[in-house]
Amino acid sequence: MSQPSPSVFRVAVIGGGPAGLMAAEVLAAGGVQVDVYDAMASVGRKFLLAGKGGMNITHSEPHADFVRRYGARQEEVGRWLAGFDPDAVRAWIHALGIDTFVGSSGRVFPTDMKAAPLLRAWLHRLRDSGVRFHMRHRWTGWEEDALRMATLEGEVLVAADAVVLALGGGSWARLGSDGAWVPLLAARGVELAPLAPSNCGFDADWSEHFSSRHAGAPLTTVAIAYRDAEGKLVRRKGQFVVTATGIEGSLVYAVSAPLREQIARDGVATAWLDLAPDHSAERVLAEVTHPRGSRSMSSHLQSRLGIKGVKAGLLHECLSKQAFADPARLAAAIKALPLRLVRARPIDEAISSAGGVRFGALDGGTAMLRALPGVFVAGEMVDWEAPTGGYLLTACFASGRAAGRDALDWLETRRQGT
Ligand SMILES: Cc1cc2nc3c(=O)[nH]c(=O)nc-3n(C[C@H](O)[C@H](O)[C@H](O)COP(=O)(O)OP(=O)(O)OC[C@H]3O[C@@H](n4cnc5c(N)ncnc54)[C@H](O)[C@@H]3O)c2cc1C
Repeated sequence: MSQPSPSVFRVAVIGGGPAGLMAAEVLAAGGVQVDVYDAMASVGRKFLLAGKGGMNITHSEPHADFVRRYGARQEEVGRWLAGFDPDAVRAWIHALGIDTFVGSSGRVFPTDMKAAPLLRAWLHRLRDSGVRFHMRHRWTGWEEDALRMATLEGEVLVAADAVVLALGGGSWARLGSDGAWVPLLAARGVELAPLAPSNCGFDADWSEHFSSRHAGAPLTTVAIAYRDAEGKLVRRKGQFVVTATGIEGSLVYAVSAPLREQIARDGVATAWLDLAPDHSAERVLAEVTHPRGSRSMSSHLQSRLGIKGVKAGLLHECLSKQAFADPARLAAAIKALPLRLVRARPIDEAISSAGGVRFGALDGGTAMLRALPGVFVAGEMVDWEAPTGGYLLTACFASGRAAGRDALDWLETRRQGT
């Protein structure tokens, strides 16, 4: 990595999430003056929220499997990961004095599952390395070459030799990442893919009857199948929750990208739900057709297959009366109940967002915007997406490092040219 002369250059990092803080760390280590600006009163708000339910920071699966999680962007994200992979993420956390452990699913967590001690130690180290923080500074664009910042005292103009934008995606706006940067970059000719919900729930337009009885009910050990872009049936097992309007939860998030794309293409998506994933179709048919005497079909399903509550409710909701009364059709539906999903939930509710700065807008495989020399981008505001499981944070860290390194290299080229 290049080492520009100390204190010669000033770099503004805008956005103090994991991507921006990582860029700041690399820049400070490279000997430049780093100023971090954030619109909120404190940095890392989404990072802290991610730590609330147990901070899943990365994943321990083999590298090739890990990289595949970035789907259509695995090549580009793979380049970031080549500079900071999951092992490097763990070593970096350990160096901050925080231990990690690998959960049974291969997911990696800080030992205490929390984000706050990690963020505290990290900010301490950043301050010690000379990084300056400017809170309640909202970047609102440029005034000639200067950065315009809205502050409590009014607008201030900030000059910088290079800028790293790490403004986040478009979900959970109240934590700072509101996507307000989109028109600012679009006006400067930066190619952008529209922000869209990722790792999100869906609306199924339940009947009032079903919604009032089952909203909030968890569906444990079910499987969802969907058709991918090539028409191949893909199936995943897991858990999710029925909401007042549709479905959400880890299994739904894991399949949300293809379902969102299907809705964008066809106006509606179909997912097939397997309510008895541990039984074969033959076994389910045998149980459904087993003589039931005077028992109702509902109590028969409960005693033979454990189908009751929300699972039984779903069968009633999604099947016609005739299909429910026909054992062959009912058995087939238990293994593949078609769920009609009409829209993704709003982006603000999503765990993350897809879309943002297209890789094509970047200069020759670096993090610098071709349309804006000296301006680098990092994190969720770039056009990639990944499922939950530590893949989001790992890519944000890795892209923050890449942006920091690329900015140092660019500054070094400028120094040599002057
Ligand atoms: C509920 C929840 C749980 C999650 N759990 C996990 C998890 O367990 N594992 C995982 O890998 N990921 C998880 N994530 C996702 C992860 O937190 C994000 O992908 C990550 O924080 C994105 O990092 P970032 O630095 O790109 O952006 P952000 O963390 O969103 O940071 C962007 C920063 O930019 C600032 N900003 C925005 N606009 C401006 C502006 N105009 N001027 C100045 N500052 C601005 C914001 O205030 C913010 O501080 C979770 C997300 C949510 C919502």
